[in-house]
Amino acid sequence: MSKFELPLVGIFGGTFDPIHYGHLRVAEEIVEAAGLHKMCFIPAGVPRLRHTPIASPQHRAEIVRIATQCNPRFILDEREIFRDGVSYSADSLRDLKQELGKKVILCFVMGVDVFIKLADWNSWHDLFNLCHFIVVARPGHELTLGHDVLPKKLKEECSQRWVFSADSLRSATSGLIFVAPTTMLDISATSIRACISVGKSVRYLIPDAVLSYIEENQLYL
Ligand code: ATP
Repeated sequence: MSKFELPLVGIFGGTFDPIHYGHLRVAEEIVEAAGLHKMCFIPAGVPRLRHTPIASPQHRAEIVRIATQCNPRFILDEREIFRDGVSYSADSLRDLKQELGKKVILCFVMGVDVFIKLADWNSWHDLFNLCHFIVVARPGHELTLGHDVLPKKLKEECSQRWVFSADSLRSATSGLIFVAPTTMLDISATSIRACISVGKSVRYLIPDAVLSYIEENQLYL
């Protein structure tokens, strides 16, 4: 099989504290636009570069399960939940590469707010040998054509890697970056937690089944 025929598999990492329609809509649009075979949601157990999540890893994974179970292309991958210590995406991608062999092309999906900090990540250079990147804008975080928002060393690393169509991701097995045009939804887990903590409604920002789970388990109060 040539690399052009290999299925693309999306990897969507995050704390998902909780997962919301900002994540789910972006995932749906990327699956459709890039023709992804699957989108794996990987909740981080203990993230290194951000605050400790409020809900436990088990609750966050369960919330992702509830939110994704109706979509046959979405799957929950719990590997970081059960791993001891800090969650490094490079470890998860290496594991996935080993499990799936050379049979798929991995595409790491992330918002611009996360991508601009990539050079702070553990083994960040290695990531370009493990996967492509699909980057999405968020309100307040847009990637301009000049990419002036990127720190110098990341900008240099990325300079020859940009592609301008999702189809171009099939031209190599890793190392390319595509900025995907997606609907920008101004939803964040931070604002959802803040609303819940003061008793404000978060209906229509998260799936109803997720809201029921949060209420039953008295999360984010
Ligand atoms: P928090 O507010 O707690 O920081 P978050 O809403 O940013 O959380 P995360 O779980 O940290 O959610 O994000 C996981 C990934 O999803 C990141 O790559 C992030 O950039 C992206 N993302 C989160 N919300 C959106 C959104 N509304 N639109 C596009 N991408 C998003």
